[in-house]
Amino acid sequence: GYRARSAYKLKQLDEDAGLFGPGNTVVDLGAAPGGWLQVASEKVGDHGKVVGVDLQRIRDLDRHNIETIRGDMTEDETKEQLTDIIGEAGADAVVSDMAPNMTGEYSLDHARSIYLARQAFEVAQELLATGGDFAVKVFDGQDLADFRADMEPEFQYVRSIRPKASRDSSSEQYLVGKHFLTAPVRTGD
Ligand code: SAM
Repeated sequence: GYRARSAYKLKQLDEDAGLFGPGNTVVDLGAAPGGWLQVASEKVGDHGKVVGVDLQRIRDLDRHNIETIRGDMTEDETKEQLTDIIGEAGADAVVSDMAPNMTGEYSLDHARSIYLARQAFEVAQELLATGGDFAVKVFDGQDLADFRADMEPEFQYVRSIRPKASRDSSSEQYLVGKHFLTAPVRTGD
């Protein structure tokens, strides 16, 4: 079984948008308790690698293709740790299920969700290989269109997907950027 029901959301995103293949390198942001890590680990297989980051400690998953970092994705130090692990070849997919602590105040929760999504987008642009994919959780609201518009030029196309497994929380959806257009030159210094 999976550690979190959210595993089924990632399965559906992968079925709809084709995010993972055998041998891929995947970065999973906001990865605790580890449901998405389990799904991605199965998909990339023994020759792949999945790196998960969360503020919370992720209990050991006992799969040799999973590595985890405990850290805050809004801090440079965590981003640098991730860059060191991924290396020059870049990642085939960056996925983010990061969510703020919900206050129940719709506009505040939305703004915080978009802020985290923008952090994930920044990291995706630093880490993705050309042709790589990015999937990020966002809550509906006034800043969503601007965020999507900022994603559009960096990918061949951007889709929005509302997995059936998300139906209970109706304001949640995922933006998927397919085929990252231009990875930066990485010197590995
Ligand atoms: N996809 C996960 C799974 O399948 O197990 C569930 C992720 S849960 C919905 C959202 C996670 O985002 C929480 O574990 C939270 O700690 C993490 N998170 C929120 N803000 C973060 C940040 N700034 N840096 C790292 N992780 C963060």
